[in-house]
Amino acid sequence: MIGHYPTATEPLPTLSTLSTELWVKRDDQTGTLYGGNKVRKLERILERAESRSAKRIITIGAVGSHHVLATTLYAQKRSIPTVAILLPQPRTDHVASIVRAALGQGLEAHPARSMLEVPLLLARLRRPGDMFLPPGGTNIDGTRGYLDAAEELSDAVRQGLCPEPDAVVVALGSGGTAAGLLAGIVRAGLSTRVVGVRVVDPWMSGRLRTVGLAKAAGKAAGASLEASTLSGRLEIDGRWLGRGYGAPTCAGEEASRKAEAVGLTLDPTYTAKAFACALQLVEEGRFQRVLYWHTLSSALLAPLLESAPTEAELPPDIHALLLPRGRA
Ligand SMILES: *Cc1c(COP(=O)(O)O)cnc(C)c1O
Repeated sequence: MIGHYPTATEPLPTLSTLSTELWVKRDDQTGTLYGGNKVRKLERILERAESRSAKRIITIGAVGSHHVLATTLYAQKRSIPTVAILLPQPRTDHVASIVRAALGQGLEAHPARSMLEVPLLLARLRRPGDMFLPPGGTNIDGTRGYLDAAEELSDAVRQGLCPEPDAVVVALGSGGTAAGLLAGIVRAGLSTRVVGVRVVDPWMSGRLRTVGLAKAAGKAAGASLEASTLSGRLEIDGRWLGRGYGAPTCAGEEASRKAEAVGLTLDPTYTAKAFACALQLVEEGRFQRVLYWHTLSSALLAPLLESAPTEAELPPDIHALLLPRGRA
């Protein structure tokens, strides 16, 4: 295993109300080198890479992709180099740090100006012995990491470490995290609903895709789950996306301030939007117990940035992927 499990489940009393308790699942603490949701996804992905004797991992992500950084770090520990096609994203300080860290840790990066350029670039870069990973590490192996996480939640509920949540709130990007949780929650017999907070364009994160992924990951784990049951437990909340992937929102900034006050650091792309949704659900009082699933690494980036290029030292074609604010 590369991560540390189980992660804690903690109450957030100061952000709860008389009608709704807010809790947090600390998946920011899945790893000491680097944490967050991508660590759970990498457990089976890296096992697969080793069993296939993959020579390299080749993947795709936005320039500030946590998936690309986590893959670079943990694959390198097994002496597997990572190659990534990177796409543009609005520049924030956090995004700039992530790409600097990834390059500093040995990522081989190739820029693409849009998704349209990806297939040709991929065909040109791919070599025999490469293992391809889709964006976000969202394949069946990656998604199964979150089936396991739901099992972990179910164990914590059984042990009385936390109450059974009525809703789990999590960012919905490439969908592996939400899909795995959905499948795992249904398999474990919990009555919890999954609220996926859309942080990417709808075509990437639709209900059909998420339910299909949940069903396929369940099947790979030996569970036969009905699509209609899965779909009935999934809510997709599209209210928090703002101007698109990676574009900061006011609600997200407000949520980040409230999170900071209880010791949680959020990022503008994923967790600020998901936490804003969780706070709204507390406000609405529809659920008695809301569990916000914290997916951003809280490991210090500073050690990874020591050997990294500064922002000004980034290769110009990579630097150009950091879009000035307001353009995306
Ligand atoms: C990748 C990521 C997500 C989204 O997970 P998906 O499985 O792609 O939906 C959420 N939060 C953070 C911090 C991430 O890096």
